[in-house]
Amino acid sequence: MFEEAIRTYLQTHRFASLHLKAVLFDMDGVLFDSMKNHAAAWHEAMKRYHLHMTPEEAYLHEGRTGADTINIISARQRKETASEEEIEAIYQTKSEIFNSLPKAERMPGAYELLQKIKKEGLTPVLVTGSGQVSLIDRLNRSFPDVFKPGRMVTAFDVKHGKPNPEPYLTGLKKAGVSANEAIVVENAPLGVRAGVAAGIFTVAVNTGPLADEVLQEEGANLLFHSMMDFNNNWENFYQLIQ
Ligand code: CA
Repeated sequence: MFEEAIRTYLQTHRFASLHLKAVLFDMDGVLFDSMKNHAAAWHEAMKRYHLHMTPEEAYLHEGRTGADTINIISARQRKETASEEEIEAIYQTKSEIFNSLPKAERMPGAYELLQKIKKEGLTPVLVTGSGQVSLIDRLNRSFPDVFKPGRMVTAFDVKHGKPNPEPYLTGLKKAGVSANEAIVVENAPLGVRAGVAAGIFTVAVNTGPLADEVLQEEGANLLFHSMMDFNNNWENFYQLIQ
């Protein structure tokens, strides 16, 4: 199964080989079990402004900017986009609700996988659309000594967020590697699209309520149902791309 996925990737992108040097990790829904909180906060904030978005739909839009998400829902329901003021108010409400929820735990399996990656001498890189100021503190607390400051791509480093490939292309640059020397680990459909568009072998971990097909249709090269599952399969996969 892994061999076939690798062969298909190499053919599609016309690479001779996949030789792993860096692993590009998305954050929410991959390193932290935080998507439940984001989905609940989006649903509730929209409701307060009479917009309807189920928590499940929040998973489909994961990775988009707040403004884009609000405008998509507003256009669908009211046939017009939201005003700047309303976008700001809804996003502020969403952030307040999110911050009031209990802090998300580390995703089970993520820490174990990162330890293996470090031990192999591979470079872990964080690639997130998040612009939380407390991000680095939180990462260092939960994953001590894993992500170096120069090896993080956040909302502040890019002009175009996911699904644009820019965040992952920036991740490659920060790691000093080519597309066929890295893999992307993503849980969101738009994140998978971004990884694939950057020409990188993209591993989807379906940690949310969406159907596997949603991630596969975006071009995921491999799919696991949890980070634990990926961690358990790591050795078998890694030996093929060393
Ligand atoms: Ca994510």
